[in-house]
Amino acid sequence: MALRKLGDSTYLYPGSPSTMIKVLKEGAVLIDPGHGSGRHKDLKREVRKLWVEIKAQLATHGHADHISVAPRIDAPLFMHRFEFSVAESPLNRELLTFGSKAPKGFLVFQFPEEVKVHAVFEWGDKPFGLKAIKLNGHSPGMTGFLDGENGVIYAGDSFFGERVITSVGLPYLVDPELFKASITELKNYAEDGFLLIPSHGRPVEGEEALELLDFNLNRVEETESLILDILREGPMGIDGIAFRIMKHYGAEVTPQKLALNLVPMRAFIAKLHNEERIEAVIDGGLKWRIRRD
Ligand SMILES: [Zn+2]
Repeated sequence: MALRKLGDSTYLYPGSPSTMIKVLKEGAVLIDPGHGSGRHKDLKREVRKLWVEIKAQLATHGHADHISVAPRIDAPLFMHRFEFSVAESPLNRELLTFGSKAPKGFLVFQFPEEVKVHAVFEWGDKPFGLKAIKLNGHSPGMTGFLDGENGVIYAGDSFFGERVITSVGLPYLVDPELFKASITELKNYAEDGFLLIPSHGRPVEGEEALELLDFNLNRVEETESLILDILREGPMGIDGIAFRIMKHYGAEVTPQKLALNLVPMRAFIAKLHNEERIEAVIDGGLKWRIRRD
């Protein structure tokens, strides 16, 4: 596969996640190096074709599929401070995507090794001239990188291509309110003419970007009201609710996908509980029901 040129000094190497490459005088910066047995070699080869060396790596967040080749590339890795321990500890990574140590082969992407992070940044910082913008909700420190020179934002997993969402049923998130706020932020950038790059999906701009962002936003808002509709039929546990939502959206229900969806589902339940719209009940297990008062 070949690099796609996004601007004077910015390129995209395809994949899921795709990797953005920013060329500076002092060398190239990789954003989300990704995963896979040969990917580090592919990235090194493509950067060599640009006649520069890899100077640094940035990651949007610590999920294994975004960073697992980072240790095989000889350049320091930078990440938001909230994601630092997620990248470094494989157990923390499993905790974030499963809730505890995960059964072997159970997660969509599992990587049992530590990934060393060399430095952390804050939102608002400009590591290598790329502004770190707060796009969390998918994970605690999910960060987008804004390349003002070329009008591009590498948006990580703050939104997804339609195919990814359709296959799982829901966008993966750990806080629906933060996730929605990030989408709203991205809509402002889309209106300002920025090209938005999701890690899993095609880069979008203009009307197409706004439509895809709305698709993400609607799926989250619709899920909230679907949960309430389901609970109006009677109390239900989180597994049951997640199963019903996946069926509603026509997603194939596998043990792996259902386990993955339990994480966003718990986050939705927490939100509805905090808004005093549902309450917990013990009924052959932990179940949730509509509040009647
Ligand atoms: Zn992710």
